[in-house]
Amino acid sequence: MEPNVIKKTVREGSILFSNLTPGDGIKKAIQLGRQLSLMEIKESKMKGRGGAGFPVSTKLMLTAAAKDPVKYVVCNADEGEPGTFKDRVLLAEYPHKFLEGMIIAGFITGAKEGLIYLRGEYVYMLRHLNKIINEFREKKLLGENLFGIEDFSFDVKITLGAGAYVCGEETALIESLEGHRGEPRNRPPYPVNTGFMEHPTAVNNVETLATLPHILLIGGKAFSRYGTEQSTGSKLFSISGDCKKPGVYELEWGFTVKSMLERVGAKDTKAVQIGGASGVCIPESQFDRRIAYEDLPTGGSIIIFNKSRSMLHVLKNFMEFFVEESCGQCTPCRIGNMKLLEGVEKIEKGEYTFRYINTLKDLAQTMKVSSKCGLGQSSPNPFLSILENFKDEIFSLKGNGVYHE
Ligand code: SF4
Repeated sequence: MEPNVIKKTVREGSILFSNLTPGDGIKKAIQLGRQLSLMEIKESKMKGRGGAGFPVSTKLMLTAAAKDPVKYVVCNADEGEPGTFKDRVLLAEYPHKFLEGMIIAGFITGAKEGLIYLRGEYVYMLRHLNKIINEFREKKLLGENLFGIEDFSFDVKITLGAGAYVCGEETALIESLEGHRGEPRNRPPYPVNTGFMEHPTAVNNVETLATLPHILLIGGKAFSRYGTEQSTGSKLFSISGDCKKPGVYELEWGFTVKSMLERVGAKDTKAVQIGGASGVCIPESQFDRRIAYEDLPTGGSIIIFNKSRSMLHVLKNFMEFFVEESCGQCTPCRIGNMKLLEGVEKIEKGEYTFRYINTLKDLAQTMKVSSKCGLGQSSPNPFLSILENFKDEIFSLKGNGVYHE
């Protein structure tokens, strides 16, 4: 039975939410062959949908070019960014799409094994996903010598995560897959050369993989006509918070924040957090900005706050999250996030000075350049953007403090 997930939210869109007959994308890949399939993906100019925005074709090409008979395709289903629930919808309602994407990635790279790293909190989908995987095996879409092609064998298995946010980072995910503590590795070497069990590994997000069959079927060029120059195609956005119609929307990159707010029925909006907890928070004066790599990039999370919300409480919530989720491996992130949270608590009590706030801002900038992985590099984003964009509100909370302009 299909897991019952967020049925009340909206699903809209023209590519990913369009119909796809299971197997059609793989058949198209076989018809094109490995090289031309890769060329179509390259022509689509699609960037990975997990948030980092690395070109998908480059990752597949590097894995394909690696000289190792053992390779892996990993599906990153560790959707942990606060405010993101689009992969949950794909996993629960359209699992054949990302599975097909994994098979296509296996065909292109030469990997014979696919590993799905499923977020621990999504354990309730395990039985459903295994059922779909078995159906694929019965239909001979997974297994040995697929479509009678001698060097095309591919199968998948699921490994459950244990709830660590940092395991969304691909090298921490690989460590966890190997049974180790989920901590990011030093890079280089990159997973495309030295990944799971030291073999070349292409790690891709659920949405990225689910898009591959559609790209092959409509053609890379057609896909690239959607969106903007640097952000091609459409993408799923998890839109939540203070609005009438929260949901998963498939939208062309390049829309304005204002148009999005109108679409989801948001009123009296004070702030929009773009890119989850690690993203940036913009005020009403910036609602004409565009969601795209050229302006405001996001892995898909958009959270809306209306005028009743305290931005200091929003910030405190985010910083508590990062203190909890830092793996503790490197000092800038381990100590830095605690210091930023301490700063927020001091602001809350009114116990701060102008010099102290500036020191925290310097610390936040240092964390961005010196932290080992994306968590510590991006956790200062909400701190910096909320303090900057909502300073009038936040610094009017003087309490017993001695804040000097
Ligand atoms: S930045 Fe944070 S999460 Fe990443 S390795 Fe350092 S301590 Fe761990």
